[in-house]
Amino acid sequence: MPSAITTDVLIVGAGVAGLWLNARLRRLGYSTVLVERASLGGEQTIKSQGIIHGGTKYALHGALTGASEAIADMPRRWREALAGNGELNLSATRLLSEAHYLWSPGTLAGNLTSFFASKAVRGRVDQVKGEQLPPALQDRAFKGKVYRLAELVIDVPSLLANLAQLAGDSLLAGERIEPLRDGEELAGLVVDGREIRAQRIVLSAGAGTADLLHALGLDQPAMQRRPLHMVLAKGPNLKPLYAHCLGGGPKPRITVTTHPAADGQWVWYLGGDIAEADGVAREPAAQIAAAQKEIASLLPWVDQSLVRWATLRVDRAEPAQSGLVRPDNAFLADQQRLLVGWPTKLALAPDFADRVLASFERDGVRATSQPDLADLPRPPLALPAWEQLLP
Ligand SMILES: Cc1cc2nc3c(=O)[nH]c(=O)nc-3n(C[C@H](O)[C@H](O)[C@H](O)COP(=O)(O)OP(=O)(O)OC[C@H]3O[C@@H](n4cnc5c(N)ncnc54)[C@H](O)[C@@H]3O)c2cc1C
Repeated sequence: MPSAITTDVLIVGAGVAGLWLNARLRRLGYSTVLVERASLGGEQTIKSQGIIHGGTKYALHGALTGASEAIADMPRRWREALAGNGELNLSATRLLSEAHYLWSPGTLAGNLTSFFASKAVRGRVDQVKGEQLPPALQDRAFKGKVYRLAELVIDVPSLLANLAQLAGDSLLAGERIEPLRDGEELAGLVVDGREIRAQRIVLSAGAGTADLLHALGLDQPAMQRRPLHMVLAKGPNLKPLYAHCLGGGPKPRITVTTHPAADGQWVWYLGGDIAEADGVAREPAAQIAAAQKEIASLLPWVDQSLVRWATLRVDRAEPAQSGLVRPDNAFLADQQRLLVGWPTKLALAPDFADRVLASFERDGVRATSQPDLADLPRPPLALPAWEQLLP
């Protein structure tokens, strides 16, 4: 039987939420063990677009809400971490773009005048033209308006490698999880037969959290899944573009981010409305055809004969709520030693860690144990989707 461990905090699920929290706790002197059943970040995190939202997109609904103000501080916190002087040292994480853009194709510009003139947006977006346009839009045929948002786009594979390095020896590959109880009380978990006792147990397992709760005999907090059908395009002629293309509705018609592939080519990763309801209902070939049509209409100068395509399906995992509305804050629920949550966005991983730390502060959870964790089986890093689907 593997040797038992006593740690301050036991975290299950090494996506961005678990990895960020783990790194923060270690920096504050807590001992931690972070259990992952597959690869580090391999579910939602590696499939995300890497946009560090500041909430401006939500202003499209009307005025910024109080909730969207909570996200407004995230770009600053990430920027400081990326510079190596924030709450974590993420100086080994690659920044893909200093800005994300809002792009309104010619026909829409009129509708947006009042939006950009509104108090909520003033000072947060600037119009760009000519050489300041994203490289993919610098074509004589381009019509429309482009606004620069003070939001970053990060390279998620390098973020995961950076957070894995900050995790030191605290990572544990483990699949089979059972409760460890002292009488009625949850005292820890048994992971692949290894007893791990902890002052606090945090479930940050994304879509896997519902099953983990079930294994602990709990059905709250309830979780919802929001399916997406994303599109990838790879070609030697694609140029960087990080933008929400507006379609007149509350959601971007298409959200494009651009990622470096190992062979030096760029990969466009397409989300937004195209990846939601109608896109989810389409078979992959029809979804690719829909994306090709969008690109032909929005970026007609791109020679698609050089481009290869793929799609991927992934569910967002979030706390259950009515009408599948997007939550704007990290979510955390606690019941005695157990804390359960979803960041709801990559950008909100710092907010998720804040909520866990606030709960520790409230309950007086202090760093006490320093177990020897050398030689734990370590989970591998996730591979980016484009390296698997479009090698
Ligand atoms: C297509 C897409 C695009 C997105 N784009 C953005 C974006 O641009 N900006 C943004 O801010 N957000 C974005 N998001 C949202 C963001 O990706 C997620 O909110 C965030 O990655 C969730 O992180 P997480 O750590 O909670 O979950 P996950 O990344 O899903 O990690 C959960 C981990 O738990 C592990 N696990 C599950 N069950 C168990 C178990 N029983 N035992 C051990 N381990 C387990 C899984 O293997 C996984 O590694 C996007 C999401 C999707 C799907």
